[in-house]
Amino acid sequence: MARKWSLSARRTPTKAGLEARAYGPEGDVVIRIEGITKQYVMGHATVNALRGIDLLIRTNEYLAIMGPSGSGKSTLMNLLGCLDTPTSGRYEFNGRDVAGMEDAELAEIRNREVGFVFQTFNLLPRSTSLQNVELPLIYAGVPPEERRERAAEALISVGLMDRLHHKPNELSGGQRQRVAIARALVNRPSILLADEPTGNLDSRTGEEIMALFENLYEMGHTILLVTHEEEIARHARRIVRLRDGKLESDTRWNDD
Ligand code: ADP
Ligand code: MG
Repeated sequence: MARKWSLSARRTPTKAGLEARAYGPEGDVVIRIEGITKQYVMGHATVNALRGIDLLIRTNEYLAIMGPSGSGKSTLMNLLGCLDTPTSGRYEFNGRDVAGMEDAELAEIRNREVGFVFQTFNLLPRSTSLQNVELPLIYAGVPPEERRERAAEALISVGLMDRLHHKPNELSGGQRQRVAIARALVNRPSILLADEPTGNLDSRTGEEIMALFENLYEMGHTILLVTHEEEIARHARRIVRLRDGKLESDTRWNDD
């Protein structure tokens, strides 16, 4: 599938593009799930974590998943990120049926197509920003020189040009999360999944990270955010609410 964006080339949204967004996204479908269920079997008890979810996510959507604790947000996120497979239902990622895939195939999609950002950053503590961001490219078999270049480019794109050789403990929380975002983006994934990305940050730093996501969205990225904070979710353009493993509401609004 052709990439419509690159890390460095900021795509200026055209007027037509903005209008298309305003009247409903018409981008390619990235994720299509239908009737997804997930059961966890615990001894004799079965937990129905997801009870029939339908969701369509298109290129360049910016979506927040909300819901009370235990409503199935993380379970859904894990399925969408190909970290787990559903008990039943259909799941297509970029047109490929992933619901029945084996672990190795899932891992390949996950590594190539999904960028993860976590609440706790999950950086390697003894490695520099550059080394942390290079990691997914090592897994992808990218040669060293290109790896460095792309990692540096990703770090520059998140505003860390002067922090390439710092280790996580030499960085602020906001800077660590920027490194994590650069790492998530360096493989040019189809979708960016962020689970409570501002959960460990003070509110001002959280807003800076949200400004960065806004920038990435403007560049054409597809962003899916899990949060329990209304204020954070308001940055997205669509909010999906879960309750007891079901979709309670799905609200979209215009860019303005
Ligand atoms: P949320 O992220 O919205 O808090 P989760 O997706 O983590 O919700 O959990 C949904 C339900 O599934 C909860 O009842 C939770 O206890 C249960 N659950 C989640 N993960 C597991 C697991 N690995 N094994 C058993 N039950 C689980
Ligand atoms: Mg959770």
